[in-house]
Amino acid sequence: MLPIGSTIGILGGGQLGRMLSVAAAQLGFKCHVYEPEKNPPAGETSANLTTASYTDYSALEKFAKSVDIVTFEFENIPSRTLDYIESIVKIFPDRKALEISQDRLFEKNFLTKLGLDTAPYLKVDNVSDFKDAIKEIGTPAILKTRTMGYDGKGQIKITNEHQVSQISKTYKSFNHILEGMVNFTKEISVISVRNSKGEISCFDPGENIHENGILKTTTIPAQVPRALITDAILLASKILNELDYIGVLGVELFISKGKLIVNEIAPRVHNSGHWTQNGCLIDQFEQHIRAIAGWPLGDGARFINVTMENLIGDDILNTEMILQDSGAAIHLYGKKETRPGRKMGHVNRMFIKN
Ligand code: AMP
Repeated sequence: MLPIGSTIGILGGGQLGRMLSVAAAQLGFKCHVYEPEKNPPAGETSANLTTASYTDYSALEKFAKSVDIVTFEFENIPSRTLDYIESIVKIFPDRKALEISQDRLFEKNFLTKLGLDTAPYLKVDNVSDFKDAIKEIGTPAILKTRTMGYDGKGQIKITNEHQVSQISKTYKSFNHILEGMVNFTKEISVISVRNSKGEISCFDPGENIHENGILKTTTIPAQVPRALITDAILLASKILNELDYIGVLGVELFISKGKLIVNEIAPRVHNSGHWTQNGCLIDQFEQHIRAIAGWPLGDGARFINVTMENLIGDDILNTEMILQDSGAAIHLYGKKETRPGRKMGHVNRMFIKN
């Protein structure tokens, strides 16, 4: 068990890091955040902040030596940075999960090997791969960058021949996968957690609505058959065990023709788990801190129905209106600049469990 008063290093200083640091503080830990951008949301809630790039090895060394364990709130951290930190201090969850989720091809291969369903996909390394993949998968399809994509970034939906020839002419290089479009009826996600003893706990799966590739709302309970909820939890547990995982893992799923299809996994706390802050005794942030600290997991049972709504871009201007509802639990990230598509906060609204 990580002793009370220890310092947890967090790579990435966004809102996830901010909420992790608040949970850590509640358990008597201190946090040291490492983030390249100035004035990050997590800096305000942590004991220490390092503002330096992920390739500044002297800053990384100082950071790693100042903390007892390291975790991350952001997947796209360069592997050399992680190698360097890992030579000094342990990182949770470990590298395996991160390496898989950093690359959409590795991720899909891993899931397929585990016997789980994914969208049809093919590797695209050049124009001829691209044309062959379109022939095999058909349209509509989505061309996705293998790395560095999130919130729908690095993705192009391809619906017609004209787009295929445009992309074939204009793309200088490819490091992509082509994915078949899944004709889903619902998107759900499971926020799951495992500790070093192999104990697993999963929050109730939530139903997600995306707008322009960005999560807009998560509603619990998901309106899907009970058997699928159980299957989703078993599926997430299978992934956790296979990876010998420690910490919180988000699993995003499509429901298509009554079947679960894995879209992606995120080896970290997840936006679709923010409802747990007001709907459960122990939320996803505390579960993650408990797991990585080698503490027993808490009770993640849900006691009420919740809808979580992200406040994106100018939605933040509605804060005063939202506050008119005394039951709306608002969580703001303290971001100085509002930009379209930028997550500025979220609001959890509870409704009675029936
Ligand atoms: P991603 O960044 O891959 O999670 O994609 C963001 C959102 O785009 C997903 O939550 C879906 O709403 C949509 N999407 C991504 N891939 C597919 C797919 N293969 N079929 C249908 N919708 C998709």
